[in-house]
Amino acid sequence: MLNHPDYEQARELLLAAARPVGAERIPLSQCGGRVLAEEPAAQEDVPAFDRSPYDGYALRAADTACACHSAPVTLRILEEIPAGAAPAETVTEGTAAKVLTGAPIPPGADAVVMYEKTSFTDRSVTLFGPVKPGANIVRAGEDIRRGAVLARRGDVVDPGLAGALAAQGMAVPLVYKRPRVAVLSTGSELVEADGLPGPGQIRNSNRYMLEAALRRLGCTPVYLGIAGDRVEEIAAALDQGLAACDAVVATGGVSAGDYDVTPAAMDAAGAHLLFRGVDMKPGMACAYGVRDGRLICALSGNPASSLTNLYAVALPALKKLAGVRVCFPQEFPVALSSGFDKKSPKTRFLRGRLNLKGGAACMELPKDQGNVVLSSAIGCDLMAVVPAGSGPLSAGTVLKGFLL
Ligand code: AMP
Ligand code: MG
Repeated sequence: MLNHPDYEQARELLLAAARPVGAERIPLSQCGGRVLAEEPAAQEDVPAFDRSPYDGYALRAADTACACHSAPVTLRILEEIPAGAAPAETVTEGTAAKVLTGAPIPPGADAVVMYEKTSFTDRSVTLFGPVKPGANIVRAGEDIRRGAVLARRGDVVDPGLAGALAAQGMAVPLVYKRPRVAVLSTGSELVEADGLPGPGQIRNSNRYMLEAALRRLGCTPVYLGIAGDRVEEIAAALDQGLAACDAVVATGGVSAGDYDVTPAAMDAAGAHLLFRGVDMKPGMACAYGVRDGRLICALSGNPASSLTNLYAVALPALKKLAGVRVCFPQEFPVALSSGFDKKSPKTRFLRGRLNLKGGAACMELPKDQGNVVLSSAIGCDLMAVVPAGSGPLSAGTVLKGFLL
């Protein structure tokens, strides 16, 4: 077991221990936001046939080559082809077919003229200028070519992919199951959000905070309840979580105090401890372990500490469980929109909001970044990393940021 690795080492260790959960086939209409577990290659061209993007007339461009205002060309209309209909006739010299948006181009025609550019009756259409060969035709395969790989395993089904899969008739894609992640709150002082705290008791914020964070990461939280500060009680709850879920996230009892027994409980539950503590602030106190390939993330009871640690350390491993291919958050430079007074002897994580209004990535920094101050995490979508050994930071300081 490692003591106090840096956050990058810690998340690599955890990532190496994480395995994606299984896959399932579900209806495409429920796949938005899920992670693809197959690599779908297009079986068909989309569109499948040449079609008209406008209401107009399909014709032979050659017939219109000499058309002008003083010598217009009139073509006989063979038929009307709405979207969804098949052409019955071949366009030959001196003829045209009326086509509506989405209609297949009839054989013999090699161009479409929009009806606004013509004068027409039910039986004929007159043109006052030439139409270029190929004009106004959406070609078969213009959107998706047969054989093209639409997405890779581990890509999230976004609106574009959902539509592209539908266009291929892939109505029941293979996606990863959502990892079930058990949430355990430890601490004899806790009562639930709807409970009335007695003297010295507090409400269980972490449960709800973690449930929301896990959902955001594509996991399904499964709440295990509150365990007191005894080894056996916590070990039994961990055991229950590990038996029923793909991972467990617990809070409380990971510091070095008399009542901090969660690591001992992990041991008692048969888990192998990967590391204890991470060289970061807030969120230093933690213990991570694994049993039978299932992760245990035991975080501090202090809400802002546990949330920071979850995002800085556990996030890539949780995404890997969910099958996501690119697990690490993308990093980019952010400039602080206000200063930060404290020194950072250890690597420090700041929480804030991304502001792009000025044309550059700025981070709006809530004033209080303390480890018990959860209210400053409301609305936060960004974290920034202050390198260890930094002094106070002035407004405009550029840090490495990542989106949550
Ligand atoms: P611990 O990590 O157990 O030492 O707890 C650190 C601080 O976080 C203590 O003040 C606890 O009362 C508080 N705390 C522990 N668990 C929770 C929780 N689930 N929700 C809110 N605060 C908590
Ligand atoms: Mg405690």
